[in-house]
Parts: sequence; structure tokens; C-alpha cells
Amino acid sequence: YRLGDFYEMFFDDAILASRELEITLTGKACGLEERAPLCGVPYHSVDGYIARLIDKGFKVAICEQIEDPAKAKGLVKRDVVRVVTPGTVIEPHLLDDKSNNYLMTLLEDDGVYGVAYADITTGELKVTSFAGLQSVQKVTDEILKVSPKELIVADNAVEDHLVLETIKKYDDVMISTFNSAAFKVKNAADTLQRVFHVYAVEGLGLEEEPLIGAAGALMGYIEETQKVDLVHFTKAEVYASDRYMVLDKFTRRNLELTQTMRSKDKKGSLLWVLDKTTTAMGARLLRKWVEEPLLDLETIQNRQDAVEALYSDLVTRDRLRELLKDIYDLERLASKLVYNNANARDLTALKQSLAVLPEVKDILGDLDSGVLPTIAGDMDVLEDIHFMINQAIVDEPPISLKDGGIIRSEFHPEVADLRDAVTNGKHWIMGMESKERDRTGVKSLKIGFNKVFGYYIDVTKANSHLVPEEYIRKQTLANSERYITPELKEIEQKVLGAEEKITALEYDLFQELKGRLLEHVNRILATAKAVASLDALCSFAEISVRYDYVKPTVSADGLVDIQEGRHPVVERIGDSEIFVPNNTVLDQGDNQFYIITGPNMAGKSTYLRQVALITLLAQIGCFVPAQSASVGIVDRIFTRVGASDDLSQGQSTFMVEMSELANILHNATEKSLIILDEIGRGTSTYDGLSIAWAVVEYLTEEGGIGAKTMFATHYHELTELEGRFTGVKNYCISVKEAGDDIVFLRKIIRGGANQSYGIQVAKLAGVPYGVIEKAKGILEKLEEHDINNNIAKLGRERAQEKETVHVESIPVQKVADGSVAYIQEEPVKVPVKTEEVVEPVQLSLFEAQPNALIEELKTIDVMGMTPMDAMNYLYKLVNQAKDQ
Ligand code: ADP
Ligand code: MG
Repeated sequence: YRLGDFYEMFFDDAILASRELEITLTGKACGLEERAPLCGVPYHSVDGYIARLIDKGFKVAICEQIEDPAKAKGLVKRDVVRVVTPGTVIEPHLLDDKSNNYLMTLLEDDGVYGVAYADITTGELKVTSFAGLQSVQKVTDEILKVSPKELIVADNAVEDHLVLETIKKYDDVMISTFNSAAFKVKNAADTLQRVFHVYAVEGLGLEEEPLIGAAGALMGYIEETQKVDLVHFTKAEVYASDRYMVLDKFTRRNLELTQTMRSKDKKGSLLWVLDKTTTAMGARLLRKWVEEPLLDLETIQNRQDAVEALYSDLVTRDRLRELLKDIYDLERLASKLVYNNANARDLTALKQSLAVLPEVKDILGDLDSGVLPTIAGDMDVLEDIHFMINQAIVDEPPISLKDGGIIRSEFHPEVADLRDAVTNGKHWIMGMESKERDRTGVKSLKIGFNKVFGYYIDVTKANSHLVPEEYIRKQTLANSERYITPELKEIEQKVLGAEEKITALEYDLFQELKGRLLEHVNRILATAKAVASLDALCSFAEISVRYDYVKPTVSADGLVDIQEGRHPVVERIGDSEIFVPNNTVLDQGDNQFYIITGPNMAGKSTYLRQVALITLLAQIGCFVPAQSASVGIVDRIFTRVGASDDLSQGQSTFMVEMSELANILHNATEKSLIILDEIGRGTSTYDGLSIAWAVVEYLTEEGGIGAKTMFATHYHELTELEGRFTGVKNYCISVKEAGDDIVFLRKIIRGGANQSYGIQVAKLAGVPYGVIEKAKGILEKLEEHDINNNIAKLGRERAQEKETVHVESIPVQKVADGSVAYIQEEPVKVPVKTEEVVEPVQLSLFEAQPNALIEELKTIDVMGMTPMDAMNYLYKLVNQAKDQ
């Protein structure tokens, strides 16, 4: 509650807030027996405290004085003017201007999910729905992709909510509830009709009930918390969830699209390399593009062609980027108009931004490639708005709206008159000072001003005998006396009166101007979108030039042919090493499945991701780091990368690994690209190898999924599979052996590695000499037992068994330890072959010759020794050990 210069909280709120914010709890008499607990924060620092409460998962209702305290009779009227929640923050300094702050509603109705999300600062509203078998997983992926700050569900739907249970594991999104009635189709439709001023919701393109319910509840929630007319929401964008490539949570994380896996920083992510935007709107859009690769060939080519035009015209690109730098965050400036918290500086920021638009549009007029003409068409240069602001607002207005100095004198005759009155009055007073000095002969006479007495004449005590009779004494200070005269007071009245009038008038004029601008908010937002697209395209062009990218040929034919491809991020952060480019040819025939072997640190993971990232870059319309590239559009990119430790989510590494794998095997199609970086690491060798092996068979066998796949593995036994299954090709990353050491060459070549060089890598990493030597000994021993031979034999046998084990998988969603799992029916037919089974070789590593020292130790009676005996004995043992 606003109380004067403070926001105060009372009773339980006060107790809670004082604890959470570490502010002092006091009390206030309130007519009850006990004093009311109370605590408060100064109004000028309230934002910081609100931010902390929001961060801690609270919502904050702000209660303002809604009448002028000076004019109120009795208690000043107060009302809740806004409720701040994580998804409804509008304070610019609490927002990240490079990403959207989304608020989302989720509704489930008979197995169909309606999802709506909005950014209340930009007026963007998107709606979609999911139905069918895998809807839980799809909704979950969509929510994790959008990553809303707040997810709202009906208050009667929180219990046992499949999606919520899963979401909670991966994201710390705040889950809010809202009156379930608001989600009901009838009420939701009413809300939408009211907010969008439409006669029927069909006009918004919303037909399905879950769409209406989700969108209506969302707008209802925003209305209820913001309490303003939501004029900047003008349309609901219904999107099909199949317009964009679905990137599941694993893939987004594994490919480090917008943040790194480990530190969650932008630095080191793909976005970090790509983002050379100069406006906040552009940065937000670019991020969205990265997260939503396109599937439609023509749309991709339209973006590419625009990038190409900007790529090849350095002068134009530089000029555009230069101009864009002067454009402030138009979307958020527009939202300030909507939420009525724009100050005069915001309007000058808007004006300055608009000033560059005519030139931008002019330049665009000469570029007719790809989407550029569309962008030019959408860009309204808003000259009238520039004019309106420029005419009214001075060039450098103050932040405060209460002290005047905002409106140009020429804008309004009364402003000019009042300003004259103030200036004249002040001149007169200055004149009076010198006049009175002459008249009284007091050289030190001064005219001053303070809030209590207004203007006064100050004469030192030593001179007070010179004061004329008509001076009226007002105040006595230690060294001087202060006087007034009727004439001085008369002028003062005029000056102060005029000052008061002018600030009030300026305030009103300013509000009126904002009102007029509000009518054009949607034009501003449309232009903001055009600016954002142009900025993002310029960024693509800029990095393509700077980092030597090439325009890929995108097609629908499923062929990937990358010559001299590079990893966009590793090549930028690689410390001293020069990045070694590599080729890739993948198709749906002979080159469907790469099995990539090679020692640790050779560059397998980098190579896999490089192919995935180049594909993704091609599908967002960007150029790619390669000498040349053809990229067949893929419907999805799946990844299972690294031994990612998801222990924070309460799952063991192996469990995570297997759920990633399950996700892939259930959803991949022949149009997908699958990146598998190690499978089966988290379990025993035989388990792991068997699973990895089965996956290769499953993906390549006739009638199987047939997705383009790259599989890096440390099981070099799998190289047995080339030639036995069509499409499988062995590759390895070459290393050079130099005596006992290895040198990484980073070049991918045909063939399989037959060694893992683990011990050499351990040596490179600085593992102590003693351990390295021991490991070599153990390895030799293991090799005597020759596991590899057994495995090679198994490979031949499996390949000869012509019939395949066909597993009809019926994915059933259910919750096992909270996550979505698939229940697999027993295989329909499993013809068991009674052939020689390969017995796992039991190794007896530790049955080496008994060690004399250890044998001796076993005989010692420690308890029967004196400390001195023990010491001597230990000394003897050490010497003995040295001799051995
Ligand atoms: P692996 O998966 O085989 O263990 P990584 O892909 O993790 O190996 O690569 C290890 C390191 O080698 C990377 O961090 C990178 O610095 C470097 N590297 C990988 N590929 C290349 C390359 N083509 N050119 C230069 N350095 C590379
Ligand atoms: Mg690796």
C-alpha cells in the first residue's frame, strides 16, 4: 500500500516480507488490541524489492493512492492498480531485453492440449494445440522451448497433471493457477471478444475449443493483473506445431543453441556466434529463429536470398546496421504507452528511433531479394508520429513529469505565456536586488528563496540599521535578518502561480499526447517487427561475411553433402589450434549411417555437432561454415550427446541416456537426422555394447526407420557392422602414433579405429606415470583373452541370421517416477535361435602371484605392538617395498 513516500505491508504480509526481504518489522496502532505488524520500503527503490519477491516465487499486488492526497477528504482512496507476477513484469530494468518474457496458459480437455502464450510487453499472442498419442511429450517440448516465466493452469487441474510433473523436472518455471471458470469456452470467448473487439472468436482464427479456452484464460489473467486496456494485443497467431522443426529439450541442450550445457551462459552457444544484431527486437527475433528452424523450402529460400543480398553488398549492409543502431526497443516503448508508464524521455527515444526509418525504408527499396520487399512493405516510417512528438516535446526533457520543462513553448500559447510570466517575474526580482542595493547602500543585500517563506531580502545584522521602513521583518538568523515587501510578495505570487499552472498544464498536455499516440501503437509494433527481421537478417549476413560462411543449397531430397564443414562455435573459441574442416555425405541409401570411432579427444563429438548445426543453420536461412554445402531439409534433429549428467533432475545418467534414446526411436522418421554420441556408456560393457548394437540394427534394417544417423562410439567392435547392414559406413578420426604418444589430426577418414588409445590420452591428460604403466600391463592381460575376437564372431553370426526381430512398439504414456515413459509390448515374434552362445569371459585380474609384503602384513598383530615397535616395523616394511 502506498503510504506517502513508502510502500507498506501489513499483518501476515508484513511478517513474511520482512523475513524474505530482510527489512525491519515494526508495528502500528490499528484499533485492535495488538499493534498491526508493518514493514515498508521507500517508493523509489520499490522495483528492486518487487524483483526479489518475484524471484522467490511470490506475486505482488500494488495498491496506489488513486486520488490526490492534497484534495482528499478523510482517508485517501487506494486501489490495487496492478499485480506483478513473473510473467507480467513490465519494468524495463527487470526484463532481459534480448529475450521475451512469456506468460503461458495450458489447458487439457479430453486429451487435447490447448497452449497460449503472450509477451505482455510486446503484445504478441500465440496459440496452438496438441492431440494424439504423443501429445504429452509434444506439449512438454513446446513449453520447454518457449520457456515461459510463468505457466498458468486452471485451479482445478493442478493435481496429477502429467505435463506439469514433467515440466517441473526440467525447468523452474513458476506455475500459477487461475480460476477454472476463465478456461471455460463460453467465458474465454467472452474475454477474447472484449479484448480484441471482435464479434466472434472465429474472427481471430480460433475455432477449436482448447485454443479458445487457453487464449481466453490468458487474456483474462492479463486483464486481471494489469488492469489496463490491452490495446496492443490485436491478433492471436494460431500456429501449427508442424510449421517449425521440433527441437526436443535434449537436442536444444545438447547442441547448445542458446546457452552452454555446463555454465548456462550465452557465451559459447550458437546464438553467441550468430547474434550480431544491433536492436533488442532483432536480438529477440534471432533467438526465436534459432529455436524454430523452418521446414518449408520456400520460406527458407526467401530468408537465404535476403541474407545473400545483404551479404554481397557491404556498403548497404554497413549503412543499414549503422542506422539500426539508433533504433531503441520499439516494442517495449510501445508497451509503455499501453501500460501508461512512458515518460518524456521514452517519447524522445521513440522519436529518435523513428527518425532513421525513412532512410532504412529507402535503402530497402533498392533490394528486391527474398523477404526484403515484404519487410519494406511492412515498415511504416511513422512520420506522423515523429511529427507529433517532435512538435510537442523539447529535445532533452527531464525524467520527471511533475516538474515541467517537457513541452515546447511553441506547442501551446498558454505554455508560452506562463513561461514568459515566470521569466519576467524572475527578471523583475533580479532587478529589484540591484535597485535595493543602490537605494539602501547595502552592497551585500541579497534576494533569496526558500520553500517556507518564498522570496525574501537578506541583510546582514551589521547593516540592519540601513533597512528602509517599509521592509517587513520575517525571520532572524544568527548573522542576518530576512525581510519582505508587499511588492516582492505580489510578484512572487505571480511567479509561483505561473509555475504551478505550467507544470500542471505540461502534465496534461503530455498525457493527452500519449493518448493520441496510443491509437497508433499497432503501427509502431508492426514496424518493430519489420525492423527486427531486417536486423536479424543483417546479423546473418554480417557473420557470414566475417566468418567465411557460404550459402547452402537447400532442397527437399534428403541428401546432405558438406564439403570442408566446420563447427561454428568450436572454430571461434578453439584456443590455439587451427580448426580442421571435414566433409560429410549422408543420404538415405549407401551413406545412411556413419559409425565413427577414434580415441577420446579426437574430435568425434565436435564433428557430429558440426553436421547437426550446419543443417540447423541452413534451415533457419543462415549461411553455413563450409566451403560448399547441400542440405536436404530434415524434419527433426535428434541428439543423444555426451554423458550428460541430469542428476539435478533426479535421474541417473543411464536413465537419462535411455530416455533420450527412447525419444529418438519413437519419433524419428526417414527424414530425420540423428546424432548419437555414445550409447550405453552408463552401464556395463556387455549391456552397453548390446544396446548400441541393437540400435544400429534397428535404424538400418529394411523397413526400419532409415533416418540419417551419425553414431560416435568408443565400442570399436561396432565397426564389424559395415558391409553387413546396408547404409552403414565406418569412419574414424585420424591420429598419428609417435612412439608412445599420439597426435590428433582431426581429419575424418574412412575406416574404423581398432584401438581406443585410452591410455595414451590418459597420459596426455597428466595421469601419473605409475598408473599409466600399470594400465598398460593390465591391458596386455585383457588382450590375451581377446574379447574382440569373440565379438567379431558374434557380429558375423548376427548378420547371418536373416530374420529380424520385429518389435511392434506401442508407446503408452504413463508416469514412471514422474517422467513420461513408454511401455513396450512383448515382441510379437522372437524366433529364438539355439546357437552357440558366447559366454562372457570372466577375467581374473587380481589372481596374480601373491605379494610378499601383503602376505606379511596379514600376519601382524597390531594391537599387540607398542607404538615404538609399530614405528620400527613400518620402517622395515618401507625399505622392503623399496627393494621390491
Ligand atoms: P571426442 O568426442 O572425440 O572425445 P571432442 O569432439 O570432444 O572429441 O573434441 C575434443 C577437442 O578437440 C575439442 O574440444 C576441440 O577443441 C578439438 N577439436 C575437435 N575437432 C576439431 C577440429 N576439427 N579442428 C580443431 N580442433 C578440433
Ligand atoms: Mg566426445
